[in-house]
Amino acid sequence: MTVPLDLAFFRRFLERATRVIVAESAYLTELDAAIGDADHGANLKRGFTSAAGAVAAEPPATPGALLTAVGVHLTNTVGGASGPLYGTVLRRMGKVLGEEAVVGPEALGRALGAAVASVRRLGDSAPGDKTMVDALQPAADAYAAALPRGVVAALDAAARAAREGAEATIPLQARRGRASYLGERSIGHQDPGATSSAMLVTALYEATDPELCAAPPEREAAAAEAPAQTAEPAGRVGIVLVSHSREVAASTAELAKALVGTGDPAPAAPAGGLPDGSVGTSADLVRRAVGAADQGRGVAVFCDMGSAVLTVKALLAEGFGGSDVRIADAPFVEGAVAALVTASAGGDLAAVLAAADDARAYRKL
Ligand code: ADP
Ligand code: MG
Repeated sequence: MTVPLDLAFFRRFLERATRVIVAESAYLTELDAAIGDADHGANLKRGFTSAAGAVAAEPPATPGALLTAVGVHLTNTVGGASGPLYGTVLRRMGKVLGEEAVVGPEALGRALGAAVASVRRLGDSAPGDKTMVDALQPAADAYAAALPRGVVAALDAAARAAREGAEATIPLQARRGRASYLGERSIGHQDPGATSSAMLVTALYEATDPELCAAPPEREAAAAEAPAQTAEPAGRVGIVLVSHSREVAASTAELAKALVGTGDPAPAAPAGGLPDGSVGTSADLVRRAVGAADQGRGVAVFCDMGSAVLTVKALLAEGFGGSDVRIADAPFVEGAVAALVTASAGGDLAAVLAAADDARAYRKL
């Protein structure tokens, strides 16, 4: 089996990675609580949801440009040590991939190798130090070794090696990062950064298959089966598009859904025009669209102008029967795209509104 390593592939990777990081954020933070400062999951959740929203609102034209943009974003938003480290991984990969529209499997191997080398340099870390390098180095090595069997087999091998590498950090004593302050007490715990690295390499493998990407990550699926035991409900944030024109609302919803590369968008409901199809805003259509988009995690409403904004504000003042509905102060098309990508990845209402807000800053000149 083979798959083109084109822009669509790397967009699927980013969306899958974001969704998995969001689903696993509490677990990653729990690992960091044992040997660090309990922020790894929150750090990465903030970084990836914000990067996914930014990339959707201002789409890069090539795989290299996409990875570079995500890397810059992670360095700027993550906060902890993992921010500059993952930022370096992605920027280095972006640089090695250059301007090519479709990446060759060998070039991806070179990019992985160079990325691991740059993290080792920046962190002054080597395999065995109980860091993300313990997952990333075996992944790059396994990819290179399995490449003669094809790119899908190579990415599968890389993902397995990364997961094994992460598990193998349990008996190690940390020699880098905060965990090293614990000395021998760091033994017996899995390294949070190696664990998130294994998730990211697994997302790269899953990006080879749109069906794998659309499946809910393990922890999300478990949460859906046992909702009583989880803090967050299993649904996703919905978005509603209120325009004077039925066609504009419907086609903006379609565009936003089409740009969710995993093929599994969160709900996006249009409320355009008047019920007879003429130009205007209908409170009744807005209410129905909110009902259709609401899965219990909140709804972000995008309006075009004038009476659309006024109608939504009036409805907000009345309330939507218990649903958490907010108006997004953002450009209609770019904001909706950024918001839907973040919602599709499992971001909460605050993250979705922040992604929409980011879209205001994307200059066109
Ligand atoms: P912080 O440690 O600043 O709170 P995070 O919690 O987000 O940052 O990330 C911690 C992870 O970063 C660790 O589990 C480890 O994998 C990785 N890490 C920390 N320092 C280094 C380093 N010098 N080299 C490689 N990886 C490191
Ligand atoms: Mg930490």
